[in-house]
Parts: sequence; C-alpha cells; structure tokens
Amino acid sequence: MKKILNYINGEYCEPFSGDWLDNYNPSKGEVYSKIAFSSSVDVEKAYKAAKEAFPSWSNTTAEERSNTLLKIASLIEENLEELAIAEALDNGKPLSLAKAVDIPRASSNFRFFGHAITQFASEAHESVGLNTMNFTIRQPIGVVGCISPWNLPLYLFTWKIAPALAAGNTVVAKPSEITPMTAYLLGDICTKAGLPKGVLNIVHGTGPSAGQAIVSHPDIKAISFTGGTKTGEHIARTAAPMFKKLSLELGGKNPNLIFADCNYDKMLSVTVRSSFANQGQICLCGSRIFVEKSIYEKFKTDFVAKVKELKVGNPFEADTNIGALVSKPHLEKVKSYIDLAKEEGGKILFGGNQVTVEGSENGYYLEPTIIEILDYQCRVNQEEIFGPVVTIMPFETEEEVLKMANSVKYGLSATLWTSNLDRTMRVSKQLESGIVWVNTWLNRDLRTPFGGIKSSGVGREGGFEALKFFTEAKNVCIKYD
Ligand code: NAD
Repeated sequence: MKKILNYINGEYCEPFSGDWLDNYNPSKGEVYSKIAFSSSVDVEKAYKAAKEAFPSWSNTTAEERSNTLLKIASLIEENLEELAIAEALDNGKPLSLAKAVDIPRASSNFRFFGHAITQFASEAHESVGLNTMNFTIRQPIGVVGCISPWNLPLYLFTWKIAPALAAGNTVVAKPSEITPMTAYLLGDICTKAGLPKGVLNIVHGTGPSAGQAIVSHPDIKAISFTGGTKTGEHIARTAAPMFKKLSLELGGKNPNLIFADCNYDKMLSVTVRSSFANQGQICLCGSRIFVEKSIYEKFKTDFVAKVKELKVGNPFEADTNIGALVSKPHLEKVKSYIDLAKEEGGKILFGGNQVTVEGSENGYYLEPTIIEILDYQCRVNQEEIFGPVVTIMPFETEEEVLKMANSVKYGLSATLWTSNLDRTMRVSKQLESGIVWVNTWLNRDLRTPFGGIKSSGVGREGGFEALKFFTEAKNVCIKYD
C-alpha cells in the first residue's frame, strides 16, 4: 500500500516511530494508503533541517526566491491532472472542482507570492528638524510553522507556505492527516523546482502529535494555522506564553442576506454554489440564508427546485455536483445536526438523508439539505456544521436581518444580495465579518486581506498582509548632522 512519507531536508523519509495511520478514500470508505505517524522526534529533525537552511535561503535575493516559487507554480500546473485526481481521491470532492479550483489556486498561490515579493517594499520616515531618518527593515522570522485543514488541502497548504518562503523563512509544515496526499506530492515538485534542501519540510501525522510538536517547539517563532476554532484556541493557549507570532484562520457560520431588490436569477444560481460547493465544506459557505419576506416563498420554491437538480455521486463522474464528505466521523457529525434541527423545530425542505452511490456503497455521501428553521438563536443556527446543510428564514427589515446575521460568535464572511447602493454601504459596514461579498461569492483577488473577526480568527492573510506576517519589522533610526 502506498506510504505517505515525511519530506525532510529535501528527502522523503519514514517516521521515527515506524507507526502509520490509515488514509481513507471517502468516496469508497476504504483505506487506500498509509500516513507517517510523526512525533516530536520527526518535528525536531524537520526543525534542524529548516534551521540549517535558513541563513542561506534568507540571504538569497528576492528575485532568486521569486524564480524558484514561479518554477513550483509551473510544475503544479504541469501536473494538474495527477494532483487533481489525488485531491479528489483523498478528499471526496468532485474531480471537476479539484481541476477547476483547488489545483489552479495552489499554483496561483506560488505564482502570486513569487511576484509579490519582488514588489514588497518598506517605509522610510524622515523627521525633518530632528535630523533623523527612520527606515523599516522587514526581516524573515526564521523557522516558521504552517498547519492546514482538510477541506481545500493543497490550496490552503500552499496559501501559507508560499508567502512564508517568499519572505525568506524556512518552514516546517503539516497538512491535515485526513487529506495528506497532495502535500506529499508537493515535496517532489519542490525538489524538481530546485528548492534548496531543508527550506520546506513537510511532516505528516495527527494534530495532537506532530501538530502540537510544531506549535510547542520553542524555536519555531511563528505559527500560521487554518482549522477549527477549538483547535485555534488550544494553539493560542500553547503559543502565547512563548510570545509566538500567530495567524489563526478559524471556523465560520456565514450569513447570506438576500434582499428583494437583487438580481434574482444571478442570486439564485450563486446561492446554490455558496451553499453546497465542495459539499458545503468551505469555511466561506453561506450556511444561514436570510431572505426578505416579500420574495421568501418564491425563493423557497425555486431554491429547492434548483438544489433537487444537483447530482450527488462519485467524484470521478463528470456530471457529479456533490461528492463524498471527507470522513465517516464528519458525516456522522453533519447528520447529527440534521437530527438536532428536527428537535429544534426545523422543517426539512429538501434532503437530510445519506445517499448510497452504486459501486461506492461505503462512501460518505449526503443529500444537500435545506432546513427552514425560524429561531436564529438555536444551536443549528449558531454552530458551524461544515457540510451540505443550510438553514433559511425570512426577514422584514435591515435592522432585523443585521441582528440575526451578527448574532453568532463567528465573523468570517458574509454575502449580500441587493442592487441598492446605499443599502450596500450601510449593511456592509454593519456586518460583523472579515469579508463581505456583494452580489457575488468566493470572488478572490489574492491582493486583498483575508481573515475573520470574533471567533473566526486573528490576523489577516493575503497580499502584503501575509508577507508582513512572515517578517519582523525593525525600525532603524539614523541621526545626521
Ligand atoms: P482542525 O482544527 O481539526 O485541524 C486543522 C489542522 O490542525 C490539522 O492539520 C490538524 O491535524 C491540526 N491540529 C489539530 N489539533 C492540533 C493541535 N493540538 N496542535 C496543532 N495542530 C493541530 O480543523 P479541520 O477539521 O481540519 O478543518 C475544518 C475547520 O477549518 C472548520 O472549522 C473550518 O471552518 C476551518 N477552516 C477555516 C478556514 C479559514 O480560512 N478561516 C479555511 C478552511 C477551513
């Protein structure tokens, strides 16, 4: 059976423990490979390689680092087919989605930060009268840790690694143990691109073992983490006493606000996507849909009709819209929220059932599920489900919908549908979230700040924000006569 090995100091290697975890293919519900079960010993080995590589890598010119990153981007593109198949097999997402979104975006991450680093400048402040010139040096931090989740595996793994490397750091990274395959394949791509040994080290294994070892390592000075809010809390608690720099991209329970004056047809088709893309397993999915009362009944009928058309099936079939959920425990968790919705007075308008796919009977498939549930404060409307489940409810006024939208502890993204410019400004400003999409969804320009407020995280990624995170700013003040 295929073994997913660690990638340390430019070489693939087995974990020190000799232990392996099972890696499941969610579309079949079968173990199909083994994952290195790494411990603090492997993390230490990765740290040492990164530490040794740091002086040389941090002293390369921005152009040299840029060239290497652009080569990695091109190699990801050249291997798009293989990587997309690996992603679909490992995660359960439709192959069409992996081909159109996940892998192209992984390549864009390297290409974008390969270019961005050549434009990353720092400020100078001359104090005329005091006869001083201040300038800011932005220096790489050293060895940094990057930890990523399972929903967009290579996409989010590279979203952290690319800016960390561009800024001149060396990296110890851990992908999710639920979807490690494409991160494993990235090692080989980096070697082919000529990334020097030890600059990027990839350690596989569980959060409590390998992940915890990265976070608690005293000399890994910054942690960029994307994952659940509970894990983020734990990481913050571990890292705070060591005064590590932290970037935390956490969970969401995003509202979708639909006003009667919107472009209805466009809203309807995008709302199907923002609800169920990637089986609803995107931190940015709009899982709470608020619809203005005057169009509520029409929306309900049309939305259910559109969602009925979605095909749940094998990720490798071209017409599949919704693949398998990522794991059995996750499927059970999502199903438990559907049961809870019924207890909380919700009415299932569509879906709610596990699906048996012919030829893949043990796969983790679930119908896209629409629940009408009017209490915006019930658990189903407050807790992150992270699956193909949305709730819908009507509202009458802006004030009312803002109160409901902002009632959750999360604040990652929000979507607003209206053609009224005044409303767009008023509502965007009052929504408690790091991102507001107006008349669109998941529209990403990589230069923009990305991140959440409240329990959705701390810090921003994207563009120069990410390069600022991965550098320390030093003020040099020169007095002249
Ligand atoms: P998770 O928190 O369980 O795991 C994320 C990563 O953290 C994995 O690599 C895991 O092994 C590691 N980890 C777990 N415990 C750890 C510990 N004690 N120390 C160090 N590392 C540890 O999250 P998940 O289930 O993989 O992902 C789903 C969650 O991620 C959802 O809540 C989703 O909203 C969130 N997410 C957020 C964003 C964002 O940009 N804000 C993007 C994608 C996913």
